[in-house]
Parts: sequence; structure tokens; C-alpha cells
Amino acid sequence: MSIPSSPYLSVIPGSHEESQLSTLFPSSSLPTADCQLSSLHLPTATCPLPTHPFKIFIAGHRGMVGSAIVRLLQEKGYQNLLVTTREELDLTNQSEVHGFLAAEKPDYIFLAAAKVGGIHANNTFRADFIYENLVIETNIVHAAWKAGVKRLLFLGSSCIYPRDCPQPIREEYLLTGPLEQTNEPYAIAKIAGIKLCESYNRQYGTSYVSVMPTNLYGPNDNYDLLGSHVLPALIRKAHEAKLRGEQSLTVWGTGTPRREFLYVDDMAEACIFVMESGVQDGLFNVGTGCDVTIRELAETVKQVVGFEGTINFDTSHPDGTPRKLLDVSRMKALGWEAKTPLIAGITKAYKEFLKT
Ligand code: NDP
Repeated sequence: MSIPSSPYLSVIPGSHEESQLSTLFPSSSLPTADCQLSSLHLPTATCPLPTHPFKIFIAGHRGMVGSAIVRLLQEKGYQNLLVTTREELDLTNQSEVHGFLAAEKPDYIFLAAAKVGGIHANNTFRADFIYENLVIETNIVHAAWKAGVKRLLFLGSSCIYPRDCPQPIREEYLLTGPLEQTNEPYAIAKIAGIKLCESYNRQYGTSYVSVMPTNLYGPNDNYDLLGSHVLPALIRKAHEAKLRGEQSLTVWGTGTPRREFLYVDDMAEACIFVMESGVQDGLFNVGTGCDVTIRELAETVKQVVGFEGTINFDTSHPDGTPRKLLDVSRMKALGWEAKTPLIAGITKAYKEFLKT
């Protein structure tokens, strides 16, 4: 299949006009994440190659998740990958998105483009978070349906669930209670994305599936302290404290809240796994199923970075919800589990951070 030329289109290096893609097949032999902080499992997954010339659009390919999806698709032998930069295609621009998808007619879409940030960014830029995320989703989902896109994977977020819902969090808890206020606009946009997929499936028979990642980290993460999530912020703070030879590092809160962290390559694997599976509809939590306290997280970062000072906790800052852990049994039942232990993932992330 030749890739139509397009003013917006970039093709991943290595793509060829007559490229062929893998059969979308379930992976096998998938390993499990280890709740221990220190052990490492690295078994392999297999995927039969190739039989059909599918075209795959990865929206948000320069981001942390999108770039991990592209890396893994390429590793698995998928070649006909479509990507566009924001400069080539602004996903908030309805006519550009409709023109692009009508011209390119991809078979599959990974929707990993979004406005993303930590609590500070979410709480400060509330209008931008709800507006941009709603517009990107509605543009892509509607244009995908019009262009006859077979399957689409929408990336939501675990913040869609009620602030005080039971732990671990099951998919069924969606819309059963009030949301956390600091990121409510972002969460509402993500819930709308899930409902968009569900509604197009019901009315038009599409196969648009949603995945809800827990906290992610890894290569291409955002290390800007004003916009970042807790783990990249800790990596950067510990690294800078080490370089400055400081005796201590201060972390906000008591250190007791429990959180879950998934290495982004595992997330990419889960996304491709769901896309390759026969799943046609629904919502899937993606996490490790294990959580750690913020204190344990900070100690692990300290160990990886080699910061030798002490970690202090500034209890004048709020802790947020005491625990946030996804129930991942739905993904387990499909046959997928995370495999990267936290310390191994943080070690890889820190190596990448040092290159930036
Ligand atoms: P990033 O911020 O790293 O990447 C987002 C990507 O979207 C970037 O490539 C960005 O382009 C692109 N993008 C945003 N707006 C536009 C636009 N208007 N036009 C074109 N491209 C645009 O996010 P992540 O990779 O971390 O997140 C991916 C998905 O996973 C998101 O849906 C997010 O909500 C979800 N998620 C992420 C979590 C995390 O911990 N990071 C946790 C839970 C869910 P550019 O490179 O030009 O900025």
C-alpha cells in the first residue's frame, strides 16, 4: 500500500511504500510486575508477522506514551506508521483533523495526544485542560468514524474515578461519586472521551476502546517542576540536590499516601496488546496492581540517583487522597500484566533523564 502524500504527514523513518504490518494478534508469554522494589523480570512477548498492510496513526507520537508506542510498534515489525507534529497538524483544529483523516484513512488510531500535567498545571490551567482535551478527542473520534477507522484506542487517566472510591479501583466505579477538585476539568474531558468511544460503538458499530493508565514514568517524561508529576519531579529534585551537594531534600506532605507507578514501555505494551486483542468496546485499567508510599518512592529515587542526604517531609502541604491503586484484574483476565519492577523502571528513567 502506498502512503498518500500529504502536507501534514510525516512517516516514521524505516517506513516503506509497500510496507506490511503485523497481524493484529494477542501477545503471549507476558510476564508479571513484581511488587518487590528490587527484582527484575525480562521475558519476551511474541507476535506473528506480517500479513496485512495496515496503516496506523499514532496521535501524540512525540509525547512520553506516544513515543513508547511507536518504539514498540517498530520493534514488533509494524512499519506503516503515520505521525504528525503539532506544527503539521494541530489536533485542536477540527477542519485540519477531518482533512487529515479523510485523506490518510488509517486503519487503526492510538489516541495518545492530550494536554497533560501534574496537580499544579491541572489546577492552574483548568480551562486549557478541559477545552484542549475535549476538542482533541471529539475531533479525532468523529473524524475517525467518518474516515472508516476500524479500531481506535483512547488513553484516559485514573483520575476519572471518584476521589473517595473504594480501593483498589475497579472500572465499575466510574461516575459513582464526586471527582478530585484539583484536576476535575481534565477528568471530565477524559470521561467525555470514554463516553464518546462508547457512544460511537453503540450507534455506529465502531470498535473504539479506552484504557485508563495509572501514574506513568519513563523516557520523554516532563521534568519541568511546575508541570510535572510526582515521580519525574522527585528524580529531578534528587539529581539537582546531589549535584549541589545538599544534605537534605524536602518532599511535600507526610510521605504516607500510597500511589501506583507504571513504566511507560509497559503502558505501550498494554496499548498494543489491547489493540491486537479482539476487544471491541469498554474500559480497561492499566497499572501494576501494586502501590508504594511516597516515602518508599522517594527512598527508591534517592537510591537510584545516588543522593546521599536525608529526605524530609513538609507536612504543612496536603497529602491528597490516602491511596490510589487500580484494580487491574480486567487486563489480567485478557492476558496482560505489567513487567517492569519500580526500581528497574526508575533506573531506566534516570538514565534517560541524564541524556536530556
Ligand atoms: P505528553 O504530554 O508526553 O504527550 C502528549 C502529546 O500530545 C505530545 O506529543 C503533544 O505534542 C501532543 N499534543 C497535545 N496537544 C496537541 C495538539 N493540539 N496538536 C497536536 N499534538 C498535540 O503526554 P503523555 O504521553 O504522558 O500522555 C499520553 C496520554 O496518556 C494522555 O492522554 C494522558 O492523559 C494519558 N495519561 C498520562 C499519564 C502520565 O502519567 N503521563 C497518566 C495517565 C494518563 P507536543 O509534543 O507538540 O507537545
